[in-house]
Amino acid sequence: VQKRTLRVLISSVIVPGGAANLKGVVLTVQDLSKEAELNQAKSQFISNVSHELRTPLSSIKSYIETLYEYGDGLDESTKRDFLEIANLETDRLTRLVNDVLDLSRLESGREYHFEPVDIAQPIEQTLRTHQLTARERGIELSTEIGTDLPLVLGNYDLLQQVLANLVGNALKFTESGGKVRLSAHCTGDGNKVRVAIADTGIGISPEDQQKIFDRFFRVENKVHTLEGTGLGLTIVSSIIEKHHSQIHIESEVGRGSTFWFDLDGYLETCEWPRREAA
Ligand code: ADP
Repeated sequence: VQKRTLRVLISSVIVPGGAANLKGVVLTVQDLSKEAELNQAKSQFISNVSHELRTPLSSIKSYIETLYEYGDGLDESTKRDFLEIANLETDRLTRLVNDVLDLSRLESGREYHFEPVDIAQPIEQTLRTHQLTARERGIELSTEIGTDLPLVLGNYDLLQQVLANLVGNALKFTESGGKVRLSAHCTGDGNKVRVAIADTGIGISPEDQQKIFDRFFRVENKVHTLEGTGLGLTIVSSIIEKHHSQIHIESEVGRGSTFWFDLDGYLETCEWPRREAA
């Protein structure tokens, strides 16, 4: 049995053309199930956000309180450790607030400006901004961009954010000695561009693959770092949907993961080469 939320309005009216004082009753029934469902999802989100914010906040508070009340009895290195933890937790809080704001902006129904984008540009920018982290973690980060790519129709900043989130994850969940590759090629049907981020990292089980796009979901494992918010992939999937597409994943535990999506070409097709081979 499916539960529904209904609103029933009863009003009395004079019957037009009827005898004087002849009254009728109008019943209006509104189905509010969709609205009730949305409200419930909203309250669930607010309660999740509050929970996620409370954890770092209470940790920061307890370290600062200890320093404030018992600081005199602590040695210098313990004090530094406490301050460092409070500092890291503050960074985490900032990331959480930023992610929640990004997500709520994406879901507010606001219109984003779409323009012709040469996808090679945000890809190369992502390579530059993540190369240092990749080197520090001993991971080979590379790009492979087709020479025949058409321009795609998209929002540059949002696409940049998708690439940064996916490459950030790939680097986070790949061990030293591994590889992360960003690629863009024309699809078989000739007027779409397929963008893929492939890593040789820890991989994701089929069961977890169903959940990773859910808000705040994070796989419990040894790489479960302070860095994550569990909102990154929700943001990625929402942005790709704004581009009338879908994010896909192929992954095998212990071998690695590939996240990919297609973008519509803008006027041109792959048959009209426009990028020179490097
Ligand atoms: P987080 O901020 O924790 O990275 P995301 O929404 O970006 O949140 O990702 C959700 C979870 O999906 C991560 O915590 C991780 O368990 C898993 N995940 C995401 N990307 C990868 C990847 N490339 N390899 C392995 N696991 C991944």
